[in-house]
Amino acid sequence: MKVPPITQMKESLSKEALQRYARHISLPGIGIDGQRGIANAKVLCIGAGGLGSPILLYLAAAGVGTLGIIDFDRVDASNLQRQIIHSNSSVGELKVISAKRAITELNPDVAVVTYAERLTHENALEIFSEFDLVIDATDNFATRYLANDAAVLLRKPYIWGSIFQFDGQVSTFWAEHGPCYRCLHANPPAPGSVPSCSVAGVLGVLCGTIGSLQATEALKLITGFGDPLIGRVLSYDGSSSESEIITLKKNPNCPICSTTPTQTALLESYEDFCGEYGGIGVGEMKAKLATKPTPVLIDVREVIEWDAGHIEGAVLVPLSGLLAGEADNLLAAAPEIIFYCRSGKRSETALRYARTAGYRSSTHLAGGYIAYSQGA
Ligand SMILES: [Zn+2]
Repeated sequence: MKVPPITQMKESLSKEALQRYARHISLPGIGIDGQRGIANAKVLCIGAGGLGSPILLYLAAAGVGTLGIIDFDRVDASNLQRQIIHSNSSVGELKVISAKRAITELNPDVAVVTYAERLTHENALEIFSEFDLVIDATDNFATRYLANDAAVLLRKPYIWGSIFQFDGQVSTFWAEHGPCYRCLHANPPAPGSVPSCSVAGVLGVLCGTIGSLQATEALKLITGFGDPLIGRVLSYDGSSSESEIITLKKNPNCPICSTTPTQTALLESYEDFCGEYGGIGVGEMKAKLATKPTPVLIDVREVIEWDAGHIEGAVLVPLSGLLAGEADNLLAAAPEIIFYCRSGKRSETALRYARTAGYRSSTHLAGGYIAYSQGA
């Protein structure tokens, strides 16, 4: 399906720009007008990781006028197998800062807007409204549903990409012209039923394949060339090198993009909706612990792990005891609860228990005691 370009054209291009983008300008379907559109475009990329790396680098090279990046995470050595926008010297640094530096080195004409925070139901609409289109380069369902819903409410296109081991999928969801992500998957999968890439692994170069397809979608929407993947889902199998396209229709009963939606605002908690809890970083945890009334910090590891080292001020309640209801009185009395464990897995289970039991003001430390020890 063809759609008109989503951006206005920049008034004119400098002599340097005409040289720099000569290979675009000579392309039928882009030309000078297309390049002027690219120079005026504002694109938000959610996540500066595996998919975000090629998306941001190619869109920067293409001359996209403004690139927004939202990511609260820091660069870890285990990211470098696929997150090519970062390098050895960026380990420990905020991903948005490292990505901004790489983009500016590649193309100083690009204005980079960074958001070193988590995308939430509180900030999504405000941030999205600054951009022409949104690209999802994250790896969790809570963000995906949140981003889709915010894009639908703001009538903006949402370019989705997903990777798992050797396989990837891409589509352009735009409720104004076709289906949205909720038309494809009205509800998230059961918590824990889909392993994440951090558990199951991912072929690093696959991020380049899928991220580049997403960047291509963005350029199509910006300039109007070609047929974007609206109403189509492209699946790519990196091991067999086969790809297929499945057509997708708008669901007339879609909870958010149908003519009679049951949902007309963002949900209060996409984490509760998905049963998937990303948790907070060490910095955010420290900031919370410094506020009054002080949240209760609960260590859900075993005694032997606690004895080997723990976070000062924490209370030990091993997970089995917590799930048996041994700390219910503590949970009920706490103004806010922060769980942590060794790596963030047991604390996520603890959090799911607390949320299901109705303790809404609760979170957990992503990366657990390991992240805390590293000061990440
Ligand atoms: Zn829909």
